[in-house]
Parts: sequence; structure tokens; C-alpha cells
Amino acid sequence: MLSTMQDSDLSIAQLLRHGSTVHGDRTVTTWTGSGSRADTYRTTGHRAAQLAHALRALGVTRDERVGTFLWNNSEHLQAYLAVPAMGAVLHTLNIRLSPEQVAFVVNHAADRVVIVDGHLVPQFNRVLPLLETVRHVLVANGAAEALDVPPGVRVHSYEDLLGGQPGEFGWPVVDERRAAAMCYTSGTTGAPKGVAYSHRSIWLHSMQLCMTDGMRLAQQDSALAIVPMFHAMAWGLPYAAMMVGASLVLPDRFLQPGPIAEILAAEKPTFAAAVPTIWQGLLQHLEAHPQDISHLREAVVGGSACPPSLMRAFSENHGVPLLHTWGMTEMSPLGSVARPPASAAGDEAMAYRMTQGRFPASVRARLIDADGAEVPWDGTSVGELEVSGPWIAGAYYTPQGPAAAPESFHDGWLRTGDVGRISPDGFLTLTDRTKDVIKSGGEWISSVELENAVMAHPAVAEAAAIAVPDERWQERPLVAVVLRDGESVTAAELRDFLAGTLARWQLPENWSFVDEVPKTSVGKFDKKRLRARYEEHGLD
Ligand code: ADP
Repeated sequence: MLSTMQDSDLSIAQLLRHGSTVHGDRTVTTWTGSGSRADTYRTTGHRAAQLAHALRALGVTRDERVGTFLWNNSEHLQAYLAVPAMGAVLHTLNIRLSPEQVAFVVNHAADRVVIVDGHLVPQFNRVLPLLETVRHVLVANGAAEALDVPPGVRVHSYEDLLGGQPGEFGWPVVDERRAAAMCYTSGTTGAPKGVAYSHRSIWLHSMQLCMTDGMRLAQQDSALAIVPMFHAMAWGLPYAAMMVGASLVLPDRFLQPGPIAEILAAEKPTFAAAVPTIWQGLLQHLEAHPQDISHLREAVVGGSACPPSLMRAFSENHGVPLLHTWGMTEMSPLGSVARPPASAAGDEAMAYRMTQGRFPASVRARLIDADGAEVPWDGTSVGELEVSGPWIAGAYYTPQGPAAAPESFHDGWLRTGDVGRISPDGFLTLTDRTKDVIKSGGEWISSVELENAVMAHPAVAEAAAIAVPDERWQERPLVAVVLRDGESVTAAELRDFLAGTLARWQLPENWSFVDEVPKTSVGKFDKKRLRARYEEHGLD
């Protein structure tokens, strides 16, 4: 029997219409270094309409890709809204990749237009000569003249182009299953791969983000999106904020701990989201420069495993609960959220908060062992995690059409490359990425558990564990350690410290004390570079 319900498409245009009228007074604040500039969602709606007219005038039609090479700021939000709402496809570019990598993804996605931040013009000048499909570059917040323009490309000032355009646009009806936005994986473990989100997937994901068991985003919130808008769509925060009328605070290019502390002091957001390394940096800054940050009702940490020591420090020293989430670019990105069950309190609740959390109802998950068999959710059996659901990629973008290679997809499920266990009540604990797990004498050592154990030592600021080849055991762990300022500890002392939590055979004999663990373009431990450094220089 057919339902009798209306079948209207879920669309970014409706999100924009709703946010800019019903929540028209809510604000998007962009940090300027010494203060901020603020727009309302109403003016954001006008600017988005002006941008859509400007892009249309440049010949952008349905399905065409518009790249953004921008920090987190109000112009980026305008592009987030205007481009999909007009039926074109937003392509967020990771500004921290090499020029060759940026050019690869722009050419692969066949971007026609790129909106570039004025402060990133010198960087974009190294990308421009490598581009094959771009015909127009819009420069926002800076001088367009500084661009070295190759033949066939026209450069425009964002402001000039928008000025005089109407503040209303007749947003077209777009099939909800068409692509709205694209993001390439940051390539932590391989070459970047393109994911194309649909209007429908973004809409459903935004609803999940706002749910009480999601990130609980609501009208009362002011959300500081530290996670870059080029990293898995800033974890969906811009769209979700617009959906419920949460104000947005955007840090632009001011991402060091000092400026983040200033933004917190000035804007007093109720909510924030960032990878663990950002929170770790802020924590150290706050130790030296104490500041009340209890206006944060909650701060999301994701993108890599949150060390328990970090979560405890935020909760005990600053009264801010860190909300641990797991996800992937391929998952829009929200995959699970660590909210303890209603029955848990105290230490038990804390233990739940440190897992990767529970899957929302729309996300199906299963664990697959080395023989391809599904393993039970018994809290101990370990397998590779596979997921499926309406905001999860079923294929990667290729110019010839979506392609679902067997190393990434399995019978329609996404292979996450993450290894872990699931408890009977549905809490996921990840122990590793398949590529990072340390295989010692036929047993597996979890690099994440090892890192967490080392980071629990009070003298340690950061620790990253990798596998190094070993004649007898095949692989053994090597831990790169960054000490806190003014602290000292020896490898032998760290081994003794670990002996309390790890089995003897898991205790690492290879230690390297370093000034900094190399980070990826989105702030994760870069184990590829750590391995390469070890191969070249050994332990020094
Ligand atoms: P990349 O794969 O290039 O790093 P993503 O940001 O999409 O780009 O990374 C997704 C991966 O990040 C996940 O597959 C997982 O390995 C890791 N990850 C994300 N969140 C967590 C978390 N809370 N705990 C452990 N690992 C995480």
C-alpha cells in the first residue's frame, strides 16, 4: 500500500529558507584576531542569494562544482548554503594539503569556480598553475590583484561580485538524492578519495546532530566550530546550527591555543568541537594562563581517540565534559556518540564516555573478523567495523560515476578500516586502525591503548605509537613521546609506569623523545610520517 504522505524533497534550500527567516536573528560571528565581525542568519540568507546570482552570472549551472579554499568564516558559510541550494555542488578544499594534492582533488572533481580566502592567496598561487578545469576564482577578504592568474582563468573580488546582486533567489527544486557537497578524505592512510553528500544525507545527518543523544545542538547554543569547514564539513555543525538556530562562532585562521582562549573569553560559546590535539594544546595553555571556560556546556572531541587523561583534565580542572564522538568523512561524519546509558553514574559513566560511543538508530554496524565472519557484540570479540546507513557513503566519486571498490565496500557496507569491539548494549571501543595495529608475535597490540597508557603519565603531553619491524616478533611498538614543559622522565621510568596497566609482552622497548609528534592536515598524529622518519633515522 502506498503511504498518503507528501513526498517533498529534503533540501539545503529549505534549510537556508528556514534558518534565515525563523532563526533570522541568530548570529554567525567570525573572529578577526583582535575582535569579531557578526552577521545574522537573515543577512547570511541575503548574502547566499547574492552569491548564487553571482555564480549563475559566471555560468555555474546545476551539478557544477564550486570549490572553497577558505578558513572557517562567514563567507564559507554563505558558500555552504548558496552553492547546494542553487543546485550546484560545494567542494570544500583542504588548505593544508600540498599544492599538488589540492590540484589533484580540484582537477579530479572538475571544479569550475574556486572561492579563495585573501589570506591564502600566496598559497593558492602555487596551486593555480596546476589547475585544469577552473575558470573563475573569487577572492574573499583580501586583494584579488595578488593572484598570479594563468590564461583562461578570471579573477573576481567576492565583495564586488556580490555587490548589487538581489538578496533573494528563486531556489530551484532539487532531487534530494542529488549531490549537494563533496569532501575528499584527508588521506591519513592513503590517497584522498571523494565523497559526495546528498541533500537528503546532509538533512538527516543534521537532525541527528541536534538530537539529545547526538550533539544536543539547540537554539540556546552558541557553537564554536574549531574543526575546519574543510574537514568532513566541520562535522556537520554549520548545517545543524542553521536548522535549529544555534549561533555559530567561527575562528577564521586563529587556531592556536592562545587565540582560541581569547575567542572563548570574548564569545563565551556554550559548545565547541575539535580534534584531541587542539584540546590538548588548549589544556596546556590554560595551565599557564588560567581562565574560566565553564560556559562550555560540552565540547566535542573526535577525529582520533580521545586520551582518557585529556577527558579527565577537562572535566576535573575546568568543569567541561568532553563528548567523545567517532566518525569518518565517508559518514558525513557522525558515526557514534559516547553518552553513557541512563543507569550509569560516577566512574561507570566516565568509563562509557571514554568509549567511541553508541550508534544512532540510522547507523547499522557489524564487526568482521579476518576470515570474513561476523563476530558478536559481546564486548570482547574484535573485528573490523563495517557500517551502513542513509548518511554513509556507498561508493567514492569518480569522473565516470560512483565506484565501490571491494577494499572499501563490502556488500553495500562501508569498510571503516577501524578495528574494535562492541558491548552488548551497543558501545563501540576502537582499538586501532587496521593499518596502525602492532602485530607482535601473532598477538595484536593496540596502538591507541598503548598511547593512552603513556599519556596517563603526568610528565607526558603527547604519545604516538607505531609498529617497527622486528626479526623475532615481526613487529614491536615504538613510542614517540613529547614531554610537558619543564618535565623529565626516562624510558625505563615510563616502562615501569606502564607495567601497572599493560601485559609484559606489550611493554615497548623502543622509545623516542621528540619535540613534536608530526600531525596530518587535520591535526591527527601522522603515523605515516613517523614511520618514514623512523625508517630514515632510527630512534634519534
Ligand atoms: P582520514 O581518514 O584522512 O583521517 P577522517 O577524518 O575521515 O579522515 O578520518 C576517519 C578516521 O578517523 C576513522 O576511520 C578513525 O580511524 C579515526 N577516528 C575518528 N574519530 C575517532 C575516535 N573518536 N576514536 C578513534 N578514532 C577515530
